[in-house]
Amino acid sequence: MDMEKYALTGHPLGHTMSPFIHSRLFELSQRNALYSVCDCPPESFDNCFKSNLRNINGFNVTIPYKQTVIPLLDRLDSDAEFYGAVNCVACGEHAVGYNTDAYGFCAALDSAGISLEGSVLVLGNGGAARTVAFEAARRGCKVTIASRSDKGQVLAKELERRLGCEIEVLRFSQIIGGYDLVVNATPVGMFPHTYECVLEKEQLRGSKALMDLIYNPQQTVLVKYANELGMKVAQGMEMLVWQAARAHEIWYGASFEPEKISEVVVDANAYMERHFGSKKDAPVVLLGFMGCGKSTVGSALAERLVWDFVDTDELIVKQEGMSIPQIFDERGEAGFREAEHRACLKAAQLRRTVIATGGGAMTFERNISAFADCTKIHLSIPFSLARERVGNDKSRPLFGSDAENLYNNRLPLYQKAADLTVDASQSVDTISERIMKIL
Ligand code: NAP
Repeated sequence: MDMEKYALTGHPLGHTMSPFIHSRLFELSQRNALYSVCDCPPESFDNCFKSNLRNINGFNVTIPYKQTVIPLLDRLDSDAEFYGAVNCVACGEHAVGYNTDAYGFCAALDSAGISLEGSVLVLGNGGAARTVAFEAARRGCKVTIASRSDKGQVLAKELERRLGCEIEVLRFSQIIGGYDLVVNATPVGMFPHTYECVLEKEQLRGSKALMDLIYNPQQTVLVKYANELGMKVAQGMEMLVWQAARAHEIWYGASFEPEKISEVVVDANAYMERHFGSKKDAPVVLLGFMGCGKSTVGSALAERLVWDFVDTDELIVKQEGMSIPQIFDERGEAGFREAEHRACLKAAQLRRTVIATGGGAMTFERNISAFADCTKIHLSIPFSLARERVGNDKSRPLFGSDAENLYNNRLPLYQKAADLTVDASQSVDTISERIMKIL
């Protein structure tokens, strides 16, 4: 089958997650397709549409062409018509414009177990706030818009006129909790200003759920507050991936299991943080039980990336001037853990380095914190394989008769510490390939 062609158009495009997300979705659908980026300046957009975009299978549209593209299309679907904006076009005999924003928003809420009903507070009055406010009002929610200027009133008036509902408008300082859902549709808290937050924590108290449309970083200060207050939380990357999934449904009738979308979301978060966020060039940390292949996979990965490779156990030996069994003999496990923590703190300062950690290191909160800005990957293997690989290795003081219990205790801690988990019972090449996709 010939390769299908899809693209994203907009200007300027700068950092975009679209090629990564769409390529993953094509891979899931086993579709032979190429997704490229078409950064097109305004003076040549018409030409670019006619000579390029119109002739491929489909494309996504972003700022500033979501309205500009409309007169060039043969027809619009009902959502694109309703919102007066197009972000997805299916080409073919007819070029048809769609809008998948509201679908992505609702699907992200759905997958977080949040229903779009009751009272909804929308923070902001820009493009995304407009979609959220319209969708909530369309579904009969009581909508409040928080705005820092009079533009909030303009949006409210449009909603009232078109949907015949009543919209409350507040300044941010007037917000107190009590909403069924709060949606952040402002960029406040986005990378690199990740310490900023559009609300005080107390202003969230009493509300039930939060959706933060920001996807870089994965966890904004607002999301952290909501988690601390025990609220349900939906995150921006979910919306981005679900919107993309809807485009695949439109283009070639794809449908994806929610679990598959969740996997793409996890990978997309890791990719985004490494390429456009706080983890750029930060170490990749491999963790897992003895025998999972941290050193072998780590060296192979470092070679592919042309990065350095360090093993925290080797750092400890160098730092303490004695072997690991010797440290255990002389200082006990507690003494070893202290030395290990010092090695983790040092390793976390490195750049462009793959780090293999000792089997117990990442079961300690203080070491996880030391590697907070690194991408942490759990190499997961069944216990039987660990025993087969290291059962007779005398340099592993903790692999004794109690090893299976140790494995069972550590497994959930690894899962909690890691940004993603990779099946490490496969070949080193397969494991490295899988990790390289994210890096
Ligand atoms: P936009 O059209 O520029 O709107 C931004 C809104 O935020 C405006 O109402 C703006 O107010 C308000 N705002 C900006 N700084 C503020 C501050 N310091 N205090 C209070 N309000 C402030 O942007 P957008 O396209 O709607 O996007 C908004 C956010 O949603 C971005 O972070 C974007 O990345 C995210 N987003 C995510 C998805 C997704 O799929 N996850 C999709 C779309 C958008 P003024 O009008 O007064 O300037």
